[in-house]
Amino acid sequence: MGWTLAVTNQKGGVGKTTTAVNLAAALAVRGVSVLLVDMDPQGNATVSTGIEKESLTKTLTDVLLDEAPVADAVVTVCDGRFDLLPANLELAGAEFQLVTRIGRELKLKRALASLPKDYGIVLIDCPPALNTLTINALVAADDVLIPVQCEYFALEGLSSLLDTLEQVRLALNPALGIAGVVRTLHDARNLLSQQVSAELEAHFGGQMFRTPIPRNVRLAEAPSHGLPGVLYDTQSPGALAYSMLADELLLRLPDALVLNLPKPKPKKTKKKKKTA
Ligand code: ATP
Ligand code: MG
Repeated sequence: MGWTLAVTNQKGGVGKTTTAVNLAAALAVRGVSVLLVDMDPQGNATVSTGIEKESLTKTLTDVLLDEAPVADAVVTVCDGRFDLLPANLELAGAEFQLVTRIGRELKLKRALASLPKDYGIVLIDCPPALNTLTINALVAADDVLIPVQCEYFALEGLSSLLDTLEQVRLALNPALGIAGVVRTLHDARNLLSQQVSAELEAHFGGQMFRTPIPRNVRLAEAPSHGLPGVLYDTQSPGALAYSMLADELLLRLPDALVLNLPKPKPKKTKKKKKTA
């Protein structure tokens, strides 16, 4: 099993889904075999990769409730570039049903362990809550990736997220780490963005990714076309930023993991014509 990352922040609308979906696509473009897990009943990651969420016969809900093997729910998306474990509103019901089940926090971890394919990177898009679904993601993950919106109140709630990470470490997943903090909806000219960046830098130091994700309308438009922004408009500032973030993330790949990425092709150099 590859590197499993939970994209999480219990604050709503900070760019979790946009980050999970675009990183999935950008990593896939780089040759990584990727699974994106939609752990949110809103099903936004599912829709953002072109899947009609109400048409699904098997979803993550069936998997978490032991009603289907994980392989039956996985679908290939974005012209075969990567795989998705989809979700829809039924997942809210599953969360409710899980409350009374023994081992409820381990359901996703066990499901991922039974995947028939060996993915290089698994990205889990978490819901905006510190609930059983998020705990499942934190138990299944090697590391978390925390998107933080560069606006007022951005840091509010981060301490309860860090507390939750510590509780999960103590009880269920001692090795859970932080892969990094991603600044989203960033505007370099805005004083607030600069202040939030400085505070994150002070608190997280090298864990903060160097690449900020700018506010970019193409990223917001892309889901309505069923495409990640990096595939919808490859040259948009948002797409380029997520591509750089994917490169930065790959540099943080744990030593134990080796992804067999295709080597970049050497650039063809034109032979100069000999002049007599
Ligand atoms: P939730 O907590 O509801 O799951 P979220 O944290 O997953 O939300 P997103 O759905 O990714 O957040 O983003 C919230 C909204 O902001 C969406 O409409 C999305 O298209 C938009 N958005 C996210 N990132 C950007 C960006 N960099 N530029 C422009 N719009 C963005
Ligand atoms: Mg979301």
